[in-house]
Amino acid sequence: MRNSYAVGVDVGGTKIAVGLVERKGRLLKQSTRNTPTSGPFAVVDAVIAVIDEVLVGIHPSEVAGIGIGLPAQVDFFRQTVEFCTNLPLAGVDVRSLVMSRVKYEVVLDNDGHAAAVGESRFGAAKGVRDFLMVTIGTGVGGGLFVGGEPYRGHRGLGGELGHTMVVVGGLPCPCGGVGHLEAYVSRFAIERDARETAATFRGATMTRFAGVEAGELTAEHVIAAANAGDEVAAGILMESANVLGASLAGMVNLLNPELIVIGGGLGDRTAIFAEVVAVAIEREAMAGRRDVRVARAEVGNDAGVLGAAALAFDEYDAREGLH
Ligand SMILES: [Zn+2]
Repeated sequence: MRNSYAVGVDVGGTKIAVGLVERKGRLLKQSTRNTPTSGPFAVVDAVIAVIDEVLVGIHPSEVAGIGIGLPAQVDFFRQTVEFCTNLPLAGVDVRSLVMSRVKYEVVLDNDGHAAAVGESRFGAAKGVRDFLMVTIGTGVGGGLFVGGEPYRGHRGLGGELGHTMVVVGGLPCPCGGVGHLEAYVSRFAIERDARETAATFRGATMTRFAGVEAGELTAEHVIAAANAGDEVAAGILMESANVLGASLAGMVNLLNPELIVIGGGLGDRTAIFAEVVAVAIEREAMAGRRDVRVARAEVGNDAGVLGAAALAFDEYDAREGLH
């Protein structure tokens, strides 16, 4: 029997989003809550609580399974969490912990990959065989599709776009490295730059706009100020977007994708990233590779939830021999 629903879970550094999803990608029920920071079991408890919420009134036989996207290096083949910068999940057997409590099959993936799967099935990359998805949020994630399939690498750990080197000896990255893309483009990077700038005379318009002290500025404040015409805020985003553009121009030279999709919690809130990336590729990518389209995510913030659910359907179909 082909089950009607799967549950998609998108665990972010700040928020957990869960949806009950139909095979064709319709989101029937949604629920969110803040991501606990007190420890791995608190995160797992929160995940289970939101899964239970969306499954109220649904018969277990109608559920294909649960897909969970984590902001972590997930070994997709072994279904283990190898490393996690923003949450205390490294080495935690998330899959078994959740499965022991919800009684459904669970499949884990990196959140960037899950978002790429979501955009591939239901969004901006529908029908596109070779594309790169970039998610800008608490961190920078990514997912690469080659020949219509997600590219996972030797051990299923590929796709860590945020931790590719952009400046040798550059700024510290949350992962412990230096000069990585995430140190220039993420929520972390934007807030660092905004707070430094706002502590000086030059950034005073931003704090006035947001109505907070310099040290309390968030990336959302910066984007809202930029969207309202604040030039200092727009400048901070432009600088960040320029680094992303240069980095992606290099990726275009390496991979020759048809499309780059820009999404994630922050990527969805402003057109600046997609616009600057398109210009950077036009300027810096090698001849013959510049026809790559740059698009903003279509299913946007739901891409992670929809993609995780699609992975759960895929796993179910593989188990039942439906492929
Ligand atoms: Zn890093």
